[in-house]
Amino acid sequence: MTIQHDILKARLLGLLIVITLLALAFQAYGPEKVLVLGQESDLFIDSIDDRGNGGKSISTLQRDGEKFILNCEIIASDYQWPYCEISFSLSDKNGIGRDLSNYEQIKLWAKYSTPQTFGVRFQLINFNPAYSRQEDTNSLKYNAIELFDTHKRYPQIIKMSHMQVPTWWLSQGKIPPEYWGPEFNEVRGVQVSTGEHVKPGKYQMIIERIEISGKYIHDRTLYLILLSLWTLTALAFFVSTLKKAKIELQTNRQRQQQLEDLNRLLNQEHQQLEERLTRDPLTGVLNRDGLVPVFNQSWSADATHLLSLIFIDIDHFKKINDTYGHNIGDQVLLVFAQVLSANTRTHDLLARWGGEEFVLACPDTTLENACGLAEKLRLCIEENDWPKALHVTASFGVAQILAQESPTDFIARADKALYVAKAQGRNCVRASTQAPAILTAVK
Ligand code: GH3
Ligand code: MG
Ligand code: MG
Repeated sequence: MTIQHDILKARLLGLLIVITLLALAFQAYGPEKVLVLGQESDLFIDSIDDRGNGGKSISTLQRDGEKFILNCEIIASDYQWPYCEISFSLSDKNGIGRDLSNYEQIKLWAKYSTPQTFGVRFQLINFNPAYSRQEDTNSLKYNAIELFDTHKRYPQIIKMSHMQVPTWWLSQGKIPPEYWGPEFNEVRGVQVSTGEHVKPGKYQMIIERIEISGKYIHDRTLYLILLSLWTLTALAFFVSTLKKAKIELQTNRQRQQQLEDLNRLLNQEHQQLEERLTRDPLTGVLNRDGLVPVFNQSWSADATHLLSLIFIDIDHFKKINDTYGHNIGDQVLLVFAQVLSANTRTHDLLARWGGEEFVLACPDTTLENACGLAEKLRLCIEENDWPKALHVTASFGVAQILAQESPTDFIARADKALYVAKAQGRNCVRASTQAPAILTAVK
């Protein structure tokens, strides 16, 4: 699931990269939208001169195929800035201008039939209700540029960002600063006129073509769209990665918890199993296997370690079984183990060796002390209240481990001492003769 999810994420990212590259390439090298003035049949084109301003100059417009020819006679008068002009209206039937804010440059094929040094003025007039009035064409904003070298450069390429709003227009309309810059959001007209300092005389201006071109989407708009796309994608990735990490962390914690629980359970079971393997089910004391660690420790780790062993065997136990039955025999075995346990030290280890035979391992105990303990136990057994008021006694064989002695030899010696106890009348304690301090008979 997560791998599929990652693949999907990688694919989406790849798609976004491709889209970005294509959009940037299209923006840089793709086709542009082009507006050619004079091609639309309903476009209103007219020639204007300074007579409207009180001047005397006369202009007429003539059309020669695709070309527009402005015949102009500049006549000196009281009006200070005589001019002739050709005006292209960009307003639609309702008088609304055209939004050229996405356009970037203008190509202007305009020249005088005889080269002139006073150049050409090019203007885009823009309507904005903030400063324009419908009935007053002078209130439209003039975005203008003065071209001085029309006789050298053909066509003229004008960047719209290079156009400026003349200060006379700003001061005349008392335009607030926020509207000082060029604006092209509702261009109502394009004007090409004779330039500044035109001298009186007859001129002919030929306009072959006016092309306004631009990107289908403005650079800034495109970058904004791409940036928004990438930011949203990054946000989605961030959220999804965070979510995934949280889920993984949670799953890992759960898994760890499960493993810990399982481990605890296994340990418990292991302990119970070990316990079962090393315990005698009838009496609850250790069995033979339970004594193995005691021998291992005493024999291998430290040869000088003190360890004494007491072999204990119930006297004439068979008779108890035979007389009172196996169940009573079992009861006697259980009470026997309890009496021994109750009268030994906590670090002594009691094990059922088999049948009615028990072994008491006494670490850090000399033969003499072990014999004393055995005697004490013997008396406890003899004086205990037994089921069926039985008189139960036991025989004891004691041995202390010798230096370098193997467990087998050691056990055999204790067993032999027990044999001696049996042979010498039972209900007594006998120690191994082969011992550091020889002690043969206690009772
Ligand atoms: P001795 O004084 O020489 O030790 O004689 P004993 O009768 O005690 O020894 P013997 O070896 O002749 O008999 C041991 C008996 O213990 C034989 C067997 O049936 C009995 N026995 C062994 N294990 C159990 C047990 O788990 N329960 C019971 N009730 N009897 C057992
Ligand atoms: Mg026996
Ligand atoms: Mg016996």
